Amino acid sequence: MLNLTDMQTIRSIAKRHSFSFSKGLGQNFLIDPAVCPAIAEYGIPHNGCAALEVGPGFGVLTQQLAQYAEKVTAVEIDHRLQSVLQETLGEFSNTNIVWGDILKLDLKQLFAEQFGDLPVAFCANLPYYITSPILMHLLESEVSFVSMTVMVQKEAADRLCAQVGSRAAGAVTVAVQLRGQAEYLMDVPRDSFYPAPNVDSAVIRITPHETPLCASEEIEPLLKMVKAGFAQRRKTAMNALSAGLGCSKPLLSEAFGQCGLAETVRFEQLDMQTLLTLSRTITGLSSQS
Ligand code: SAM
Repeated sequence: MLNLTDMQTIRSIAKRHSFSFSKGLGQNFLIDPAVCPAIAEYGIPHNGCAALEVGPGFGVLTQQLAQYAEKVTAVEIDHRLQSVLQETLGEFSNTNIVWGDILKLDLKQLFAEQFGDLPVAFCANLPYYITSPILMHLLESEVSFVSMTVMVQKEAADRLCAQVGSRAAGAVTVAVQLRGQAEYLMDVPRDSFYPAPNVDSAVIRITPHETPLCASEEIEPLLKMVKAGFAQRRKTAMNALSAGLGCSKPLLSEAFGQCGLAETVRFEQLDMQTLLTLSRTITGLSSQS
């Protein structure tokens, strides 16, 4: 197995395949030998599990996943990596690359074609420029993951794992935690990558709730409310929702009253259960008016 955390090996692969790192595609590859085995161990919970990876790069994480998972399918947008991955993953017969943009792929079809009935774990060192879009694409698709273990920018990790109802939370925190439990697993400093980015990173894991927190048709109005509420954090929740949802103040006043909320409360103070109740109440009152 080629040692893809060794700088000499990386430089020689890049030279032989005339490969230059693309900043625009978020190509910061892992060179700390301890990190990929840890992601694979955290990410693949049991034997007989398949893995979906986004952005294999030179294949440093893919090699580790291939040792834990029954099968690994990695989606890569950069076709220049074709000959590199043929070389670095050649010996792993349980790996397969799908070329394309993960955001444009139909995941239901991909799952049917690649995984059949196997349970699937998602593991990736995500390209940071599209961390939230990728997570939302995966969470909103009608496919199920046993878990999602991802490397993201440290600030994104803090936000994704923040307590809903605290200052550190945002709309993406609610969107993710509505569907699963988010855990902060480990810090990964910037010098663990080549080229080194300007930010530190962290690995987090999202485990889908066994029992959904709400019905699927409740998600859209809830997320609409959450986006409106967090868009104007400095305002009171009532003013932010009135501006963002276009709801009348009397309707919101009635909804806040029914939920036992003070009209001065700020949106970031509302926990998940309160958000769900408030969204249901606003939806109910809006349909009556
Ligand atoms: N897994 C490798 C590692 O850990 O060293 C590389 C990770 S690097 C942070 C991100 C990878 O995602 C790059 O290989 C990049 O080309 C790929 N990528 C960027 N945008 C993508 C997209 N929309 N769909 C699929 N892959 C993408």
